[in-house]
Amino acid sequence: MILALLLARARVPVTLLEAHRDFNRDFRGDSLHPYTLELLDQLGLADDLLRLPHFRARYFKFHTPRGTLITADYGHLRSRFNCVVLMPQARLLDFLAERALRLPDFELRLGARVAGLLEADGRVVGARCRTPEGRMDVKGAVVVGADGRYSDVRRLAGMPLRDLGASGDLLWFRLPRRPEDPPEADLDLYFGRDHYVGLLGGPDSWQVGYSLPKGGWAAARQAGVEPIRAFLIAHVPWLADRVGELRDFAQTTLLRVELARVDSWHRPGLLLIGDAAHVISPTGGNGLLMAVQDAVAAANRLIPALRSGAGVGDEVLAQIQADRDPAIRVVQAQQVRIEQRQAAAREAGRSLTPPSFLRWVLVIPGVRARAARANAYGPWPPHFDMRLLAG
Ligand SMILES: Cc1cc2nc3c(=O)[nH]c(=O)nc-3n(C[C@H](O)[C@H](O)[C@H](O)COP(=O)(O)OP(=O)(O)OC[C@H]3O[C@@H](n4cnc5c(N)ncnc54)[C@H](O)[C@@H]3O)c2cc1C
Repeated sequence: MILALLLARARVPVTLLEAHRDFNRDFRGDSLHPYTLELLDQLGLADDLLRLPHFRARYFKFHTPRGTLITADYGHLRSRFNCVVLMPQARLLDFLAERALRLPDFELRLGARVAGLLEADGRVVGARCRTPEGRMDVKGAVVVGADGRYSDVRRLAGMPLRDLGASGDLLWFRLPRRPEDPPEADLDLYFGRDHYVGLLGGPDSWQVGYSLPKGGWAAARQAGVEPIRAFLIAHVPWLADRVGELRDFAQTTLLRVELARVDSWHRPGLLLIGDAAHVISPTGGNGLLMAVQDAVAAANRLIPALRSGAGVGDEVLAQIQADRDPAIRVVQAQQVRIEQRQAAAREAGRSLTPPSFLRWVLVIPGVRARAARANAYGPWPPHFDMRLLAG
């Protein structure tokens, strides 16, 4: 969506194909980092977006049996947006789509699922979609697969995904929010011995993510909701008065955590970005940020190439990967380390709580601000070249 918006703003005709008939899906990345908010501000969209209901998280907090640790403080960022904004992804996408549809060069086809690639002379020249009205072919100078972790485009192009190893999965469910609940919707992780939960605030409910060991879903279903309720009562006591609302395992949704990437993001005429190119785990909540930054890097290279009329050569697509690959590798390497630590703890029967030296690291002046900055912008954040919108 971000790439399509940037292309259309630069007067490059673009067709966005979306498999679903709306953007209304649950349990997705809902965090908007300062980088993303600054980008939307540059485009004159941030103020209107922030008129929609949202929560501002200032801190990233770990709650452990030995106390609460603030691991990142966004309040000291030198940015108009010194927080992480939590907003359902569906609301963000609806907003962006509505704004993009005002542009003459933007076309949105909802309910259009890419089911094939059109090729000519060894080059991808378009996509074949299934729509409720039947088959539709869309041709273009370049096809960008931004279709997420289970990317059809990636599969159709025969681009294998390399698994980097994730040690856990998450069960998501909702519990009601009450007026007397902690008012801030910070980014909170509550650690216990064998599990942790992540909490995300919504207008009338909390999204709760309960960790499971990889492949632990069948055993969890067998055990039912009782162990989950007991965990919440023990570790998130202010939710104890409503854990009874989680009555049935069917109220939970399994989200498989994955960590993987393709070696090459491109083939002639085709580029993968976002989760399609590299699946990011929810650790750090930066999957959306990485996808947005891929879109910016792609726009910076694709707009001049598409405008030049010379077409989008392999070297342009390779350059986009070269612009983004180092950052993705750094982020995924951090996530692999966390996954390995959790796997080792599970195997050795040790607690999943963060290491105790973290408590001492966090007393170093400025360390929380630095952690917030690293998370807010990611490594080597690309800057959108606003001159591309001028002409
Ligand atoms: C449990 C969990 C929690 C997460 N929490 C966070 C978080 O808090 N913050 C965060 O930043 N990130 C989080 N993430 C990661 C984040 O959701 C992703 O990294 C991010 O959404 C990737 O964006 P994307 O645009 O690449 O793909 P997606 O957001 O997955 O979008 C892909 C789009 O392509 C469409 N599509 C799929 N197939 C086709 C097809 N064949 N034809 C046409 N359209 C198609 C889909 O309908 C979808 O709209 C989380 C991920 C998981 C699994």
